This record gives sequence, C-alpha cells and structure tokens, in this order.
Amino acid sequence: MTDTLTVLEPATEAVLAQIARADAADVDRAVARAKAAFPAWRAVTPADRAALLRRLSDTVLAHREELARLEARNAGKPIGDARGEMGMVAQTIGYYAGAPERLLGVTIPVAGGQAWTVREPLGVVGLIVPWNFPLTIAAWKLGPALAAGNTVVLKPAELTPLTAVRFAELCLEAGLPEGVVNVVVGPGATCGQRLVEHPDVAKIAFTGSTEVGRSIAAGAAQTIKRVTLELGGKSPNIVFADADLAAAAAAAPSAVFGNAGQDCCARSRILVQASAIDAFMAELEPAVTAIRVGDPLDEATEMGPLISAGHRKTVASFLEDGAPVALRGDAPDGPGYWFAPTVLCPVDPGARAAREEIFGPIATVIPFADEAEAVALANDTIYGLSGSIWSGDGGRALRVARALDAGVLSINSNTSVRVSTPFGGFKQSGYGRELGPHATDAYTEVKSIFYATQT
Ligand code: NDP
Repeated sequence: MTDTLTVLEPATEAVLAQIARADAADVDRAVARAKAAFPAWRAVTPADRAALLRRLSDTVLAHREELARLEARNAGKPIGDARGEMGMVAQTIGYYAGAPERLLGVTIPVAGGQAWTVREPLGVVGLIVPWNFPLTIAAWKLGPALAAGNTVVLKPAELTPLTAVRFAELCLEAGLPEGVVNVVVGPGATCGQRLVEHPDVAKIAFTGSTEVGRSIAAGAAQTIKRVTLELGGKSPNIVFADADLAAAAAAAPSAVFGNAGQDCCARSRILVQASAIDAFMAELEPAVTAIRVGDPLDEATEMGPLISAGHRKTVASFLEDGAPVALRGDAPDGPGYWFAPTVLCPVDPGARAAREEIFGPIATVIPFADEAEAVALANDTIYGLSGSIWSGDGGRALRVARALDAGVLSINSNTSVRVSTPFGGFKQSGYGRELGPHATDAYTEVKSIFYATQT
C-alpha cells in the first residue's frame, strides 16, 4: 500500500476523507484471506449462515442513518434517497438470509441407483461495483454470494468507497468470521484488473459501463471465470395517446432525473405518440421546473450534483451543437458539480443524445406515430435493460411488453427494481440476473451425484 486516496464530496468539492489506496499486492492479500476463510464459511450450517445474515441485516438497519449520511455526502444523493437505499441494503441481506436453507436440488430417475443434484459454492468471488448506488449494488451481490457459502473481495469505485469500508466493519460486528467479506479500495485499472485475472477468484460480479464490462468478460476468459455483468442502458419510457397523460408526465421526471440521471435504468428516451406530444409536454413542464436541486443533506432536496467535474463535462457535451432544449430546471451556482434537469424535444432518434447513455439529468423526447414504430424505436439500441409502457389499453401494453428486448419492464409505472424480482439486461446491457429468488444460481455450481444401489 503506497498511496493515499482523496475522496471528495460532489456537492462542495471539499475533501471528505483520505484513505489508503490499495494496489495489486493488496488484492492478492485480500484474495488469500478470502480463500483461507472459505472452507470454514461453506461449512457453517445453513441455519447458522441464515442467522448470521439476519443479524447482518439488523446491524445495517441499526446503522441506517449513519450509512445514509455517508452515502449522501460521498455520492451527492439526497438524504431521503440515501435512507431508502440503506433500507434496501438491509432488506436485500435479509431476503437472502432465507436462501441458505432453500438451495434446493432435484432427484432424477436413472437406472441402477439414485441421481440427484446439489448446489456448491464457487469459492472466492470478486465484486466490482460503481459509484452511482455504491452500497446498494454491492448488497445485490453480497446477499446471494454469502448465502450460497462463498467468501468475497469487494472493490468499490474509487469515487465512493466509504460505505463499503464501513460495511466491512459492520460484518464483523454482526459476527461474520474474519476473511469472509474483504474490501479493497483501489483503482479499477490495477485492483479491478487483478481480481479479474487472479487464478484463485472463481467469479466476477460486475456493475458498471459496457466498455469495462467487455474488458472484464475478455479478461475472465483466461481463467474461465464465471461472470455476471450489469451494464449500461438507454431505456425507453413509451407514452401512448390513450394513457393517463397526467400520471405519465408526473412520473417521467423522477424516472430520468432520479439520482441526477446517474442510473442504469434511467428512462432517458421518452417516446410519446405524436398526437399527444403537446398535451404531454404541457403536463411535463411544471413537474420538471419544480424539481428541487441542492444540498444532499437538506431534507427538501430531490436531486443532488453529478459525481465529478469530469462527468459533468461529459454530460454537458450532450447540449452542444444546437441541442433542442425545451425545458430546463434550476441548479445551484458555486462549488459542486451541479447540472440543471433538462428536457430535449423533439429529438431525432439518430441524434447522439438519443443513442448514447448520458448518465446525467438530460431527457430526450422522441415522437412516434403508432405501436409498430414505438416498438421499433424502443428496440433500436445496443442496450436492453429496462423500460416503461403507459397505455389505457391493457392488451396493447402487454403486446408491447412482450415485443421489447429488455430485461425489466413496468406498465403504467416506472418502478423496475425490487428485492424479490429478477433484475438484469438483454443485449449489451449485460448478462445474468440479480435479485429475486434465482440470484443464488449465479453464485453456485450444480453438481450431479450418482449412488449405485445395485449389488
Ligand atoms: P466504470 O465501468 O469505469 O467503473 C465501474 C467499476 O469498475 C469501478 O469500480 C471501477 O473502478 C471498475 N473498473 C474500471 N476499470 C476496470 C478494469 N479495467 N477492470 C476491472 N474493474 C474496472 O464506470 P465509470 O465509473 O467510469 O462510469 C462511466 C460510465 O459507465 C458512466 O457514465 C455510465 O455511462 C456507465 N455506468 C453505468 C453504470 C450502471 O449502473 N450500469 C454504473 C456506473 C457507470 P474505479 O472507478 O475505482 O477505477
């Protein structure tokens, strides 16, 4: 460990913390600790592992406010959102506390004996997570990984490591044995890369950009590591003229400006049936201009700053070259990586803002003529993570939901993430599913055993 990492507060640009920055040798040491802890952790009885995870969930809840304030300051997210996220962390760990005793196999009829399957843990699992929902996304991986009997090395994003570091302490407080949960704070290019290459790491679970996801899939191929990837999105929010336009317009801003747009599920392409576009925009305007952007620790704040100066520059580039700005909210001046919520309309489906993941508070409104064109436009992207369909015609809503190439959809709602339902993408949004009852499948191997009964 040779270096110091300076962690900034995006709302003030002030230094929030200075912590030791790990290097590849630290990753090797963390993997060795996780490997040493694995035999004893997998041997913990299912009921005892469940009890430990329940205690961890309770410990997170007991520290919810502390964790929420840390996350709000480090990631620049409104304190109300951060509280909700820490609640989800506890809920996720609690949900997977039910898994150790439900890792079921099957019996298969065969000749000459008995065949059945069991699910075995993989070993040491590397978890690489981004800065937008730091501890929440880590929990989606930690819950099923630990429940299945794996030990983990978690690498948070360098921009937002603080809640992960605190979480590792809480794991010990809850009674998890030393070495089961290890956190390494260091750069992706060295520490992340080392996890991907390490021969003693059995699997990488990654959330982040499609570009890095591609390099992880390629790197993992060298050791035939298991990989799950949750990558970018450019999700459509399809509003038909027969929808409840007031409800669709009232819900649209939080679906794209939530977390300042830094959300892989952001419904950043609002596809509106041309015959309803004027009425929709009239309803949308007050909802956008009313968004309160400001200090993440102010209870009234609905949107905070962007994560970094560099990211703000990238987001701002989408407003160059005469972008059709139709609506603009407010944002503070002065220090902090602020960016006002912005709606572009009408946007050509071929425009850069309509095709690339902006990951900031810029929505594009794209008109369409009919159902067939809505589906074609919605699917005309390399991504396929989430999306919404607003229509008063139930048959149409279901037809469109089946026709969309995306993993997580909602009808007359923009909510797509629940602890108990599967989450993940089609196409270049990644592969594998997190959350829900099947997530443990991705942290186990199926083993088939035959027992001869004939003498
Ligand atoms: P990255 O994909 O670069 O980072 C995500 C995680 O991967 C971080 O922990 C990062 O470490 C790590 N990482 C980076 N390079 C490597 C590597 N070569 N090997 C292993 N791990 C690595 O996302 P960014 O933070 O740079 O964001 C860029 C864009 O990605 C965003 O603008 C957005 O479009 C998209 N994105 C999508 C997310 C999603 O939820 N699907 C989440 C975040 C970003 P470190 O940052 O510490 O170097």
